[in-house]
Amino acid sequence: MSTLNPQSADSEDYPPLSALNQMLYCERRCALLRIERVWVDNQHTIGGTLDHLQAHEVAQRKRTGRRVVSGLRLVSHSLRLTGVADIVEFHNQEQGLPDIPFPIEYKRGKRKRWDNDDVQLCAQAICLEEMLGVPVPAGAIYHIKSRARRDLSFTPELRALTCQTANRLHALIQAGQIPLPELKPRCRGCSLKSICLPEIFSQPARIVRLNSQLFQAKYSDP
Ligand code: SF4
Repeated sequence: MSTLNPQSADSEDYPPLSALNQMLYCERRCALLRIERVWVDNQHTIGGTLDHLQAHEVAQRKRTGRRVVSGLRLVSHSLRLTGVADIVEFHNQEQGLPDIPFPIEYKRGKRKRWDNDDVQLCAQAICLEEMLGVPVPAGAIYHIKSRARRDLSFTPELRALTCQTANRLHALIQAGQIPLPELKPRCRGCSLKSICLPEIFSQPARIVRLNSQLFQAKYSDP
């Protein structure tokens, strides 16, 4: 069994797994969080934090006869990411074979139209594989509101998307540039909207006009 230690990873070089989720949600949001280090809470972010705490309580109450670990610290040196798994169940195999980890991520809302939650969970599986030296073929996302658990296979395509997103994330942080905003439906739920100002930046002509008014001389020389 491998003994990779999440503590050994440098947090500056190893961003959190949740940054993959942010990358797929909006690259500008990810850059504001990771490069500018801004943070604003809204009902979604506070709800998300409470959900993770609830997940840890649920794990402690579980009586499945399986080994269940909550709040497990994770690291992947191939992805260069660290994180924490809400819950990892260990599914028994035949005698003599190691248990298979099965990560479960708790999410507040319904299933999203985007792949971001799936990629974040797949990254957890890659961490577990590197840390424990066993294959992790599947996991699940538990949607708290609908109480629906969605099982997920870590297919080669999903693994490739996860690696690609991690590479893009490292390139974004390395470049240190904040992408321009792009007004889209998901901006409505974004806690950084008041800082990002996507409505203003999506109207370049208006910016030019406001800028020219801002620096217009009020009085002419005598
Ligand atoms: S408000 Fe929109 S463009 Fe700005 S960071 Fe949020 S999601 Fe991205």
